[in-house]
Amino acid sequence: MALRSIFDAAEVRAEFQNAGINSQFIPLIWKYILSLSLSLSLSLSLYTEWDDVPSLPSSAYPLLRSKFKPSTSTLHSVFDSIDEVTTKLLIKLQNGAFVEAVIMRYDTRLGKYGGQPRPGGPRATLCISSQVGCKMGCKFCATGSMGFKNNLSSGEIVEQLVHASCLAQIRNVVFMGMGEPLNNYIALVEAVRVMTGPPFQLSPKRITVSTVGITHAIKKFHGDLPNVNLAVSLHAPVQDIRCQIMPAARAFPLEKLMDALQEYQKNSQQKIFIEYILLDGVNDEEQHAHQLGQLLETFEVVVNLIPFNPIGTLSHFRTSSEQKVIKFQKILRGTYNIRTTIRKQMGQDISGACGQLVVNIPDNRSNGSAAVLADIEDLSL
Ligand code: SF4
Repeated sequence: MALRSIFDAAEVRAEFQNAGINSQFIPLIWKYILSLSLSLSLSLSLYTEWDDVPSLPSSAYPLLRSKFKPSTSTLHSVFDSIDEVTTKLLIKLQNGAFVEAVIMRYDTRLGKYGGQPRPGGPRATLCISSQVGCKMGCKFCATGSMGFKNNLSSGEIVEQLVHASCLAQIRNVVFMGMGEPLNNYIALVEAVRVMTGPPFQLSPKRITVSTVGITHAIKKFHGDLPNVNLAVSLHAPVQDIRCQIMPAARAFPLEKLMDALQEYQKNSQQKIFIEYILLDGVNDEEQHAHQLGQLLETFEVVVNLIPFNPIGTLSHFRTSSEQKVIKFQKILRGTYNIRTTIRKQMGQDISGACGQLVVNIPDNRSNGSAAVLADIEDLSL
């Protein structure tokens, strides 16, 4: 039987419990593996010397050897965007499939805030995948075109953070890579709990899970992951446009989704992040901005407008003009007083931009450079 990831927390806990080993040793093992990965860099999956982990009960060593690996995945390749702001990680899983994760570096001091220089410094956000492919089939998304292959285990999700930590100090994590995270709910919850505990200690407020709107999972999300941010890929203000561009909207109608979000916000008292990809002539007209404003005006939300990234022959959609994007933002802000940001384009030269995560090794890295992302962290208020 294939060895499991040491970051598959539920399996490790169960095995330790069966063997009568205290589960408080588990974070110590993770801490050792994490520091080892920083020193070994890319070759963690080759490491098998469990005997080197210090201070464990003697019964833990044979158990670790027979059941677990420090990493079941391998960092296959790394692609930097020309401006080195974005790095795409191509990760090979134990079953031979590939997933991608993207590191986005930015400097919070760039730009002005209320006319003053912004506080902060260099930061990195990791965009993580939760599935190989995706069932949701959104028409504007490269991953959706792959179909669904398999769920990632919680360990495989956490291993993306371990690999990325070798390349950058990760402060924020967003589940906006391949897959619909709420369709892999148990592994997602387990992985986030590992990331927010020792040794990773990420703040739940700096983790954002993005969903197309799986209503039954939204209802339990806050109870299972308090303080973790919820982002909803809304992409249309009315049900019929949503169905045209997001087939999953038929199973999760807009009205029911808004009811679930209302309940979520009442219970969590947290802002909801709304992602809205602007598709020329489809959902980017002034009337759509007004419909969206009316839909959201009773919520505490931040809307993130995402200019569409062309995905070659995969899609017939076009990018909205800059004027249209700005007009859309003005309506939401001016008429409805909704905080609205425009996502800066980044990483397009390595297919690491939003909606472009599909296993695809770039062969042309010279077609334009990505702009600096100034404020993805502004999503986490
Ligand atoms: S946008 Fe997200 S949910 Fe939709 S197909 Fe792509 S990966 Fe899946």
